[in-house]
Amino acid sequence: MTKKKSALNVMKGIDAPETVSKDAAKRFLAKRKKDLNVDETVKGILSGNISVLSLAITLIESNLPKHQVIAKNIIEKCLPYSGNSIRVGITGVPGVGKSTFIEALGIYLINKGHKLAVLAIDPSSEQSGGSILGDKTRMEQLSADKNAFIRPSPSSGSLGGVARKTRESIILCEAAGFDTIFIETVGVGQSETKVHSMVDFFLLLMLAGAGDELQGIKRGIMEMADTIIINKADGNNVHKAKLAQKEYENALHLFPPTQSGWTPDVLLTSAVNSTGIEDVWLNIKKYQKLTSKNGYWLQNRHRQAKFWMHETILESLKSNFYNDAVRKKQIKEFEKNVLEGKISPFEAAQELLDKYFKF
Ligand code: GDP
Repeated sequence: MTKKKSALNVMKGIDAPETVSKDAAKRFLAKRKKDLNVDETVKGILSGNISVLSLAITLIESNLPKHQVIAKNIIEKCLPYSGNSIRVGITGVPGVGKSTFIEALGIYLINKGHKLAVLAIDPSSEQSGGSILGDKTRMEQLSADKNAFIRPSPSSGSLGGVARKTRESIILCEAAGFDTIFIETVGVGQSETKVHSMVDFFLLLMLAGAGDELQGIKRGIMEMADTIIINKADGNNVHKAKLAQKEYENALHLFPPTQSGWTPDVLLTSAVNSTGIEDVWLNIKKYQKLTSKNGYWLQNRHRQAKFWMHETILESLKSNFYNDAVRKKQIKEFEKNVLEGKISPFEAAQELLDKYFKF
C-alpha cells in the first residue's frame, strides 16, 4: 500500500470541482450585492448548491447588522430541513493527526455514499484572529471531493460568538443535504465544551506514550469523550499504542457511568495508513443505535437546543454591552479607577451595569 500524503504537506493546489458554473456563481454574487434574496438563497441551499451554502455561511459569520438579519431569516427557513445528520465532534492537541484522520474517515464515508461537511472552531481566533487549525493546507483529497464541504473556523469574535456561528452553520449544511457533520477543534481549552454542546458524539484523539500532562488533555475533556482514539498506531508505535489503549480503558472504568448508557471505547487508528478507520465509524453507528433506542439521542439534542438559546442570549447581551462607543469610554475610566484603588472591581461593575440598564 502506498503511503498517503500527510495533511501537513503543502502540495500544489488542487482546484475544487465546480458544483455550479462560474457564470452562475458570478450572477449570484452580482445579485447579492444589490439585494440578497432570502428565498432564492434558501432554494439554492436546499438544492445542495455549495456556492450558495458558502455565501450563506459568510452572512452568518458577518458582523454587519444587515447581514445578520438576512442570515437569521435564512436559518429560520432552513430549520425545518435540518437535524437529519450525525454530528461528530473531533478534538486533540495540534499534531495528533486530526486533519489526517478526518481526511481518512471522510474519504471512507464518501465512498459509502455519504455527504460530509467539516466545520471547525478555532479557539485561537478569540485572542489573535490567527489560527491553530487553519494555517496549513489541510485535507487535500477531501476538499477536492464534491460530496465534501470543508469550512474553516469563523475567524474573529469571542469563542462564544464563533461557536454560535458554527452551530448555525450546521443547520444550513444539513439543509443542503450533508448527512454527516464533523466539528473539529483543538484540544487545549474551553472550545471542547462548546463543541460538545453541539454534537451527538465526541471523539478525542490521543497519542501513545505522550502522557496526559504533555498532551494537555484535562480530565474533563476525557470525561466528555464518547470514544478515545489512539492515533499513529503504526510502525514502531503499535506496541506502545496497545499499552496506551489498556491504560485508557482502565482509566475510563474509574469515571462515573454516562447518562447515555454508553461505555466509551478506546480504539486504535493509523490515519496515514487508513487502518482502524472503519471501526471508528461502526462505533459511532453503534452509539447512534443504542441512544436512539433508549431516548438519549433526542434528549441530548433537546438539551443542546435549550443551551444554545441561553448561549445566544448571553452572547447578545455581552456584545450589546461592550460594543457601544460611549460605554467603551466609561469602561476605560472605570478600569483606571479600579487600578488606582478608587473603586472596587465589584462596585465598578455594578455602576457600569446600572448605567446600562437605565439607558
Ligand atoms: P493535526 O494538527 O492534529 O491536524 O495533525 P495532522 O493531521 O496535521 O498530522 C500531524 C502530523 O502527524 C503529520 O505529519 C501527519 O502526517 C502525521 N500523522 C497523522 N496521522 C498519523 C498516523 O496515523 N501515523 C503516523 N505515523 N503519522 C501520522
